[in-house]
Amino acid sequence: MQIGVLRLGHRLPRDERMTTHVCLTSRAFGAEGAIYSGQKDGSLERSVKRIADNWGGEFSIEYEPKPIARIERMKKDGWAVVHLTMYGMPLPEKMPGIAEKKKVLVVVGAEKVPAEVYRLADFNIAIGNQPHSEIAALAITLDRMQGGKELERGFQSNFGGAAISLEPAEKGKNIRKGYR
Ligand code: SAM
Repeated sequence: MQIGVLRLGHRLPRDERMTTHVCLTSRAFGAEGAIYSGQKDGSLERSVKRIADNWGGEFSIEYEPKPIARIERMKKDGWAVVHLTMYGMPLPEKMPGIAEKKKVLVVVGAEKVPAEVYRLADFNIAIGNQPHSEIAALAITLDRMQGGKELERGFQSNFGGAAISLEPAEKGKNIRKGYR
């Protein structure tokens, strides 16, 4: 399954940390890239690129000034759109349908999400119908989409060419400089 993440409505300075964490969570848990809309933020892009360079693998971050048009284009290109919203359908009920898809774009909001996104989404998915966080919603969704593989030791082989990598340690820290 190919996974992309779209973060709608990045706001400066309010969303600096949250959007960074959306990107880092996307990368660490199996997405090939993150797209963000709202306010363009060079510093966000640089910090995500720096982490991706240091910790290996291929991960892209891209600014999209026209997110609705981008969603429409990606749908035409075969991407299934999974919009995460507390108003949506429970994830467990819809997971079988999502798991059949080859390319999934996971969409999270920041500010109020336009009604158009709900209409365009193939799945409007709640991670519990309570308000919480785009980071929690994204992490759980990515985990369920991959059956938990992204938490297994072997998954780290996806982060090739790393300047820094970690060996799991019972106690303390086992930092490897350079790729294992
Ligand atoms: N309106 C507030 C703001 O401007 O910061 C809250 C934004 S809300 C926390 C941001 C995003 O978190 C939502 O667009 C949605 O993608 C995600 N989210 C929050 N609770 C969720 C839930 N229970 N299920 C799925 N996604 C959720």
